[in-house]
Amino acid sequence: QGDSADFDSETKSICPFCGVGCQISLKVKDGRVKYVEGLNGPANEGRLCVKGRFGFDYIHHPHRLTKPLIRREDAPAKGLNVDPSNWQEYFREAEWDEALDLAADKLKALKDTHGGKSVAGFGSAKCTNEEAYLFQKFIRQGFGHNNVDHCTRLCHASSVAALIENVGSGAVTATFNEIENADVAIVIGANPIENHPVAATYFKQFTKRGGKLIVMDPRGVGLRRFATHMLQFRPGADVSMLNAIMHVIVEEGLYDQQYIDAYTENWEAEKAHLADFSPEAMEGICGIPAETLREVARTFAGAKSAMIFWGMGISQHIHGTDNSRCLISLALMTGQVGRPGTGLHPLRGQNNVQGASDAGLVPMFLPDYQTVTDDGVRRAFTEVWQSGDFSAEKGLTVTEIMDDVHAGNTRGMYILGENPAMSDPDVEHARDALAKLDHLVVQDIFLTETANYADVILPASAFAEKSGTVTNTNRQVQMGRPALPPPGEAREDWAITTELARRIGLNWTYDSPADVFAEMKQNMRSLDNITWERLERENAVTYPCHGPDEPGEAVVFGDGFPRPEGRARFTPASVIAPDDVPDAEYPMILTTGRQLEHWHTGSMTRRSSVLDAVEPEANCSMHPSTLRQLGVEPGGMVQLTTKRGTIRIMARADRAVSPDMVFLPFAYVEAAANILTNSAVDPYGKIPEFKFSAVKVEAAASQ
Ligand code: SF4
Repeated sequence: QGDSADFDSETKSICPFCGVGCQISLKVKDGRVKYVEGLNGPANEGRLCVKGRFGFDYIHHPHRLTKPLIRREDAPAKGLNVDPSNWQEYFREAEWDEALDLAADKLKALKDTHGGKSVAGFGSAKCTNEEAYLFQKFIRQGFGHNNVDHCTRLCHASSVAALIENVGSGAVTATFNEIENADVAIVIGANPIENHPVAATYFKQFTKRGGKLIVMDPRGVGLRRFATHMLQFRPGADVSMLNAIMHVIVEEGLYDQQYIDAYTENWEAEKAHLADFSPEAMEGICGIPAETLREVARTFAGAKSAMIFWGMGISQHIHGTDNSRCLISLALMTGQVGRPGTGLHPLRGQNNVQGASDAGLVPMFLPDYQTVTDDGVRRAFTEVWQSGDFSAEKGLTVTEIMDDVHAGNTRGMYILGENPAMSDPDVEHARDALAKLDHLVVQDIFLTETANYADVILPASAFAEKSGTVTNTNRQVQMGRPALPPPGEAREDWAITTELARRIGLNWTYDSPADVFAEMKQNMRSLDNITWERLERENAVTYPCHGPDEPGEAVVFGDGFPRPEGRARFTPASVIAPDDVPDAEYPMILTTGRQLEHWHTGSMTRRSSVLDAVEPEANCSMHPSTLRQLGVEPGGMVQLTTKRGTIRIMARADRAVSPDMVFLPFAYVEAAANILTNSAVDPYGKIPEFKFSAVKVEAAASQ
């Protein structure tokens, strides 16, 4: 820390980690960021967590890519075999023109020989809105189809599917800060103290002033210490439990008939469906006593203002969309949407997963969730793009694209800032697919596990080195600014994608991210009254925004929903069992997630000196009684085996994990969680079931 005089410059930007979107000041001395301070942004009011405060020095890490790389003709076979000590065996440095020409020529040659669908793209929720927009345009305009996706597919795709289906919009109905106006809140399938730490501070404050917090999770997550009710239900039993709660609300007449009549449809079907879910019938399934379910139902339904927050414990199931449908129904039947202190809030994971999805980086929607199957919608975009039509068929998702590679259809990929060689379920399947590609272009800041398989690697920029807007979980569009130039010859991502586009023959003439933002506004009503100049001036504006001087709507849908007749819909949810259930050979349940210090696949945080020092070693957590049964001391090694593979990893004792479960973070390449996970997906959101696999746990010899 220090005075302003101690630094050469101070730049306002946005934390690059989670979807909370904390505003920060980057303080630079001698060409390096020395200190990060929290600013008074709308989501953080000066607060930061350990990642935002101390997790920035990866941007100066010696592993940063500073020159384009091209795979050597005599390189050994593709595999997860490149590291900072041996990369010259596999790649040679190249000038930008050579690398861009090669990347573009090979992708174009695949299109000319095998058709546009032979090339697919993964963009990134870590990039800006402008970069996400350009990336989806690159695939759609350049290759004529919609096989373009990003990590929302692994995160909240099922929540978005349910929200669009039932309330007509995939974003939150209220900011998390609205909890200040609530008197009851449910947090389910989320661990905000570790994954959205600054949001968690608002949740804790809410309880200090008397708010009733109901936490529901198969793990005893940290917020339980602040909860009036902690429902540690059986993994996978979400629908049974939520339907039982709603059953009580119906049975005891606690629903808001006036709200239901005015703003919803399909209530009678929902009501009839819930008849079979009495708490007494469900308690044996979900593991929560009937009386507790009744008490929670009365508490929630009796609230003046109540909110529901959820995370990937809800979405990452083959019944993830059904889980979200239940939460939506619960809010609708009690009229808890559209007023201060009410609402539905899926806590978005990555810093810009909301914005990247809004910008159309998904296979079924163009920007602003306008469907690709609508001729008028596509025409509106091709008019702005001054180009011909592209496919009206919904594209392939992240996991479907990998299957398509194995099927021999997708032969080339452009991957910007994503790391499927770590993040995909059943990851050996994804790694084999990457190795099979005829041509893989990877654009990133490090030689990631995915870049191991690349033919061309384009060195990109970190958040502190670029301009652009990002949109947080609260629908707040915020301005990021560069504090430093990219290192060496690395470039901003929007500029690299633009160069590639020109080389495959597209008519792109952008000179800056502001040009891209101006184009986005032409077909994105969500950006009405939000301009680049305004964001430069004000730093953040919430969408929807109804006037050039208004801050935007913190709470939406007070007077109806963007659906036919303005009505939200009840969609009844039935119980679907997890795909990979325990048996005699694999008797326990594996669930994966993040931990406070490490972010996603670890490419950034494991190169952050403070974060890596605090949490340096791959680990899993189990109940002490489980470890005792295995004869393993806390800190000893265990072997985890599923139908997909085996890893060895250090085990911690944690009473928050129930005795039949293992919790496994997915940030560690040396014990990659996704070697074990199941690729079965939710039929609507197409999200894999990361939260539930059958696993065998054994003691392993320490090395
Ligand atoms: Fe960054 Fe999220 Fe922490 Fe805020 S809460 S500092 S956005 S990681």
